Amino acid sequence: MNNVMIPMLCLSLLSMSACRYEKTMETQKTPVTQEARRMVGELERLGKNGEDFLVLGVDAPGFDALGQRQKVLIYYLYRAAVAGHVIADDQNHRYAVEIRNMIEEIYRHSDGMDEKTKHAAHDYLKYIWINHGPYDHDSHVKTLPNYLTREMLEQAAEFAQARGAKFELRQEETLAAKLERLGPIIFDPNVDPIQTNQREGDDIIATSAVNLYDRRLTQRHIQSLPVEWQQRLNVRFAMESGKVAPQVYKIGGLYGKDLESVSFFLKKALPYAESEEQKLGIQALLDYYATGDEEKFRQYSIHWLRSDTVVDYLNGFIETYMDPRSVIGQFAGNVSFVADSTLIERLAANALYFEKKMPWQDEFKLEKIAKPVANVVNVVVETGDSGPVSPAAYNLPNYADLRRDYGSKNIILLNIEEARSEKIREATINEFYLPDYRKVVHEFGDRARQWEVYMHEVIGHGSGKPAASLRVDPAVAIGRAYSSLEECRADLVALYHVFDPKLVEIGAFTGAQQGDVARAMYLTYLQGQINRYRMYDDDFVREAHQRGSQLILGYLLEGGEKGNQDYGTRVIQKDGNYYVWLEDLEKARHGVGDLLVRLQTIKSKGDSTAAGRVFDRFGTRVNPEWRNNIRARAARLKLPNKTAFVFPRLEPILKGSEIVDVKLLVDEDLTAQQLRFSRLRFNTQIP
Ligand SMILES: [Zn+2]
Repeated sequence: MNNVMIPMLCLSLLSMSACRYEKTMETQKTPVTQEARRMVGELERLGKNGEDFLVLGVDAPGFDALGQRQKVLIYYLYRAAVAGHVIADDQNHRYAVEIRNMIEEIYRHSDGMDEKTKHAAHDYLKYIWINHGPYDHDSHVKTLPNYLTREMLEQAAEFAQARGAKFELRQEETLAAKLERLGPIIFDPNVDPIQTNQREGDDIIATSAVNLYDRRLTQRHIQSLPVEWQQRLNVRFAMESGKVAPQVYKIGGLYGKDLESVSFFLKKALPYAESEEQKLGIQALLDYYATGDEEKFRQYSIHWLRSDTVVDYLNGFIETYMDPRSVIGQFAGNVSFVADSTLIERLAANALYFEKKMPWQDEFKLEKIAKPVANVVNVVVETGDSGPVSPAAYNLPNYADLRRDYGSKNIILLNIEEARSEKIREATINEFYLPDYRKVVHEFGDRARQWEVYMHEVIGHGSGKPAASLRVDPAVAIGRAYSSLEECRADLVALYHVFDPKLVEIGAFTGAQQGDVARAMYLTYLQGQINRYRMYDDDFVREAHQRGSQLILGYLLEGGEKGNQDYGTRVIQKDGNYYVWLEDLEKARHGVGDLLVRLQTIKSKGDSTAAGRVFDRFGTRVNPEWRNNIRARAARLKLPNKTAFVFPRLEPILKGSEIVDVKLLVDEDLTAQQLRFSRLRFNTQIP
C-alpha cells in the first residue's frame, strides 16, 4: 500500500473501537522560513522521483514562553523518549538493530568512499531509520534498497572496516559471514517478505517476520499458553528446549538496558511533575519498567488520562499494529506541551448542545455527556513507533475497560497537523480542484480541516446511544463493517454540524466565513477521497476511514440507497481529467443528514445485515477510470506518498550539574537527528 496520508491514531471517545484518522496531503502546511539554519518545512524527498517520502522538519512554537521548571521537565521526558527509540527496531525484526548499526557505522566511515556507493548506503539507511527496520511502517511489506546492491554493501563495509569501523560480530563470525547472514533480509524479497501477516487462513505467527516471536513458533504454540500470557502487552515469546519461553520487557529482562536509561530520565523528571496526578503516573510507569507488571501500566494509564497539565508525554509499549494478534505493544515515546486548546475545549463543553441537534431519533441520543480531556499540543519529539512516521492525533488508553470506567484523553498534534510543503499544497490544489474552487480551498481548507478533526473526535465518536433493546455492544453486534461505520459516522457529524451557528458563537470562524468553510470542508473531503485512489493497486478500498469516506462519496453521487434523491454532488470530466463538482451544497448537506440518520439507526440497533449491505454497495469499490486518471496526474507532479518528520533538538543550559534553562533548536536534518538518537541510546550523560 502506498499511503498519501499521515495516519492519525484516534480511538473513539465513548465506543471502544480503535481508529486511525487520516491526513490528506492538501491540508499539510509548514511555516515558511528565510533563515538558512532553521531546518523547518521540506528538508528532502526520498525514492525514485522523490515519490516515497517527504521529510519535513517541525518547530515547536511556544516553547520559549514556558516556565523554567516546565522546560526542564520537557528535557528529561525528551531524553526518556529518545532512550527507548531503538527498542522499536528490535521489535520489528530480529536483525533490524544490527542492520541499523552496521550501515550507520559504514556511513560514519565513508569519507573518501566512492560517491555512488556512499549515496546508495545512505539512501537505504534513511528508510531503515524512518521505518525502524526493513519493512514499510504502514504496509508491513519489505522495503528493498533503491540503489544499494550486495556488492556495493560488501565494498562499503570493507572500506569502512579498513578505516576503523567496528561491526558487531557473533562469536567466530567474520564480516563476510555477517554480510552473508544479513544479505537475504536486505536484498531478497522472498526471505521474510511480510512483517505482520493477518491474512485469513494463514498461520499468522509462523508467517510474520516481526520479532515478537521466535521464528519457529506457530499460532498453536501461543494458543496453548495460559490466557494471562496470551494477553500480555510487554512480552516476546522465545523457544527454549522445545518450549515457549516468555521474555518480559523490564529492567533485568528483555530491553533491560534501554529501559534502565528510560527510567533514569523518568526519575529525573519526577520532581518537576506539574500535578500530583502526573507524578503518580510517572511513578507507576517507573514501577512498571522495574517489575514488568502490566497492572502498573494500567495504573499509569489511569493517571495519564486524568492529567490535564501543560506538559504531557507518552512512554511505553502502546500501539499493537505490528503484532499479528494485535496484543503486544510497540515502544513509543513523546513529549508535548499545550499550544492552544481554547476552541477544542469550548467544543467539548457544548457536546450536549450538538447531541440534541443530531438529525436522528431522540431515543438514540445521549441525555448527558461528561466532558473529556481534549488538548491541542505541539510535540517536541516522537520516538519509536510514533516517529519519524507520526500520528496526527491520538485518543488513549487502548484498554477497553479503562475507557469504559475512566474515559479517555484526546490529543491533537498541532505542529504535525500544520507541517507541510507549500509547494506540494499549491500543486495539489491547482491540479485536483476545479478552477472555481481553488480560491476557497486555498483560503479555507485549513480551517475546514481543523474543525473536521475536532468535531470528528469530540462530538462525532462520542455521540449517540444504542437502542434499549440491544443487549450487546454495537461493535460486537455489527462485526466486520463496524470500524468503517464508526469512522464514517464521526465524519458525517462534522459535515452535518459545520453549518451550525454555535460554531460562530464559540469563535470557530465568523458568520461571514461559515459558508466558505463549509464548502471547503465538503470539497476537500470528497475530492480528497478520490485523490486517495492513487494508493489502490486494485479497485478496492480496505482501510476503515477510507471506506467511510468512499461511502459518503458514493452515497451522495448515487442519490442514496434507492438512487432517487438529488444530493447536488457530481464527478465531472474536464479536459480529460476528473473533478468533484458541488452543484448544490444545501442538497449535499441533506444527503449527509440522511446517511447519518441511516448509520446511527444501524449502529443503535446493531443491524449487521444493513451495515454490510450499505458498505458493500457504496464503501468498497472505486471507479477504475477515475483511479487511473488520478494516478497519472499524481505521477506527473511527482507527489510524495508519505511523510517523515525531523523534530527539534534540546540543549540544556547547566549551572554545575543543575539545568537552569533549556534551548529549543531546529537545526538538524534526518541524518543528524537519527545518528544523535543512536548515540543517546544507552547514554545518561547530560547534555
Ligand atoms: Zn476516528
